[in-house]
Amino acid sequence: MTTIQDKYLHLLKDLVAIPSVSAQRLNLPETAQLIAQAFIELGGQVTVDDAYFAPLVIAQFHSPKPNAKTLLIYNHYDVQPAEPLDLWESNPWQLRQAGNFLFGRGVNDDKGNLTARMTALAQYLNDFDALPVNITFIVEGAEESASLHLNDYLAKHPELQADLTIWESGNKNSQGQLEIIGGNKGIVTFNVSSQTGQDDLHSSWAGVIDSATWRLIAGLNSLRDQTGKIPIPAFNQAAQKPNQRELDLVNQIPFNRQELTQSLGLDAGQLTQLSDQELKYQLYFEPTFNIEGFASGYQGPGVKTILPHQASAKLDVRLVPGMTPKVVLEQIRTQLNQTGFTDLIIEETLSQLGYRSDMSDENILKVIELTQNIYPTDPVIMPTSAGTGPMAYVHNAIPAPIVGFGIGNSQSRDHAPNENIRLTDYQEHIQLIKALIASYQ
Ligand SMILES: [Zn+2]
Repeated sequence: MTTIQDKYLHLLKDLVAIPSVSAQRLNLPETAQLIAQAFIELGGQVTVDDAYFAPLVIAQFHSPKPNAKTLLIYNHYDVQPAEPLDLWESNPWQLRQAGNFLFGRGVNDDKGNLTARMTALAQYLNDFDALPVNITFIVEGAEESASLHLNDYLAKHPELQADLTIWESGNKNSQGQLEIIGGNKGIVTFNVSSQTGQDDLHSSWAGVIDSATWRLIAGLNSLRDQTGKIPIPAFNQAAQKPNQRELDLVNQIPFNRQELTQSLGLDAGQLTQLSDQELKYQLYFEPTFNIEGFASGYQGPGVKTILPHQASAKLDVRLVPGMTPKVVLEQIRTQLNQTGFTDLIIEETLSQLGYRSDMSDENILKVIELTQNIYPTDPVIMPTSAGTGPMAYVHNAIPAPIVGFGIGNSQSRDHAPNENIRLTDYQEHIQLIKALIASYQ
């Protein structure tokens, strides 16, 4: 007999088999349809909104209880490209089981989380017929492309509301503790470029003519000093300061400089100067200022003695909630102007706002409490991740607290070759979602 878990593992196999790569706009409507069909079979009221290139799937499951609360579950069906293919130990588009592990592109990010949650709902409905809480899934198809159009989709569906939002995914840390995450940083990405003439020149001119390369390097140096400090006035002033609970929670995250330095093979830079506590504060509560790439001049084999007339850099700033892309770019413009670099051109490429939940919210405390009967060790509660996601989009449209946890492990290799999950983590997640549903009885 096929169990409910097997049925949805089969759906996971079918989902992994579709390369739904949003960056290449591949197979998105087909994947949305497959998920919509599974939700219909489960008895949901399903809408596939295909106003933009990646359809949004909305599936609502109603509780007969008067004044029932609503759980919103956010997932996405798009994945990152599988390349480089030669580094995969098996076909990325074929779900493969090896002992306790399942491998395949999207198995953790994010298709496996979706099927685990569908399993929990199906098992609950099988045991009890009626739900004690309304459940709404929103499954988008462009999360890996900065959730392009998610804002527009959500604005089209003002009927969506919730008391608690469960975020797409989450991992266990290297000690095997479940991470429960309540926020993420925002981001603004942009190019800064310099042009100093019509053509590259003979490099003998370098004594009298400034190259675009030196010009851009000097301009970038006015934005961040060698210790990592950002000399832009009031750069992080709008950043939401952590409260005492957030500070306490972050201090409890088992993470230290020595381990990080070793695990990443590092031995330089500001990292070596910070205490463990400073490092965590910096990582979770301060903005970053990063150069993603730099291009200028001759990069080919051998030597070419030219003075480049063009240089460009790609940069990103991770934003703490409260900071906005617009103000940050204005501050950077002002700083460049005031340090003599009015000629450098800034061009925005992408942006997203940051968000942090109140980790003392009763709905979130309930989730934390429920983990205690299911997981062998205490969870780690993180007010925010250091990365970026569309939590602010969802929270602005549906103002419920957001909490993230999932089926991943510390070596799940999201976005990389050999993406994997452990079946036991998958099963624990099913138990937790079922217990969460039951807690509304
Ligand atoms: Zn994801």
